[in-house]
Amino acid sequence: GWQHRFPETQFMITATRDLTDWTVRDQALRQERVRLLQECEVRELLGGPGRVTGVRVATAGEGPGTVRDLPADLVVDCTGRASRLRQWLAALGVPAVPEEVVDSGLAYATRLYEAPPGAREGFPVVNVFSDYRAPVPGRSASLVPVEGGRWMISLTGTRGGRPPRREDEFDAFARSLRSPLIARLMATARPLTGVQGSSTAANRRFYCERATAWPDGLVVLGDSLVAFNPIYGHG
Ligand SMILES: Cc1cc2nc3c(=O)[nH]c(=O)nc-3n(C[C@H](O)[C@H](O)[C@H](O)COP(=O)(O)OP(=O)(O)OC[C@H]3O[C@@H](n4cnc5c(N)ncnc54)[C@H](O)[C@@H]3O)c2cc1C
Repeated sequence: GWQHRFPETQFMITATRDLTDWTVRDQALRQERVRLLQECEVRELLGGPGRVTGVRVATAGEGPGTVRDLPADLVVDCTGRASRLRQWLAALGVPAVPEEVVDSGLAYATRLYEAPPGAREGFPVVNVFSDYRAPVPGRSASLVPVEGGRWMISLTGTRGGRPPRREDEFDAFARSLRSPLIARLMATARPLTGVQGSSTAANRRFYCERATAWPDGLVVLGDSLVAFNPIYGHG
């Protein structure tokens, strides 16, 4: 049934990824000590198994295949879920670091909508959770109001219940959930984008603390170290 109402004790800031990234970038660049290399991709670590001494990077605009070395006393890997740290460490000769993966097969399909007049400010987050009486596959939906009077609507499903990436099947999936509430709200709003799918939701933890060897001058942060199923809202 429906969650009972209870007094508010917490709040949640909802925004698109673009706005979140822009805000963090803007704050970071206000610090005089910070210098940004635009469109710069780290290709590998420099150094050896005992110490990391920098990174090799390729920067857009410097020509294809052009790389250069950036020396550093401390390298922080925060390249997220798709981090290539495992391969980079192997290339330095560091023994494999223990890793654990638990994958529910959760997939997302997301679309942005223009909220209808009267619902562009102060609209609540709406969640339709999966039906505990039919536990697998878990199928759910959420409506998250974001900046610019828009709604970000995501459909999710675990293995065997993958949400559609086709626009003409998006509404039908929302209607088929245990409550059609989000489908009804969608019908009042105007789609602004196509459907964007994501299947990178496995829980994954890299156990640096259990490594038999770890080079000095290297730290791992964020999703690169431990990435959770987004259902936990951990980011
Ligand atoms: C489908 C989905 C939904 C989510 N929903 C939520 C949510 O509602 N709320 C929430 O709090 N969290 C959510 N999360 C989790 C959240 O996005 C992550 O936990 C968070 O972004 C991790 O931050 P990070 O800085 O570690 O990595 P990221 O945000 O992934 O940032 C890594 C950055 O490194 C860059 N990069 C990667 N490789 C290189 C390289 N070789 N060289 C240079 N740069 C590189 C990438 O381009 C990226 O900009 C969600 C995740 C997913 C997958």
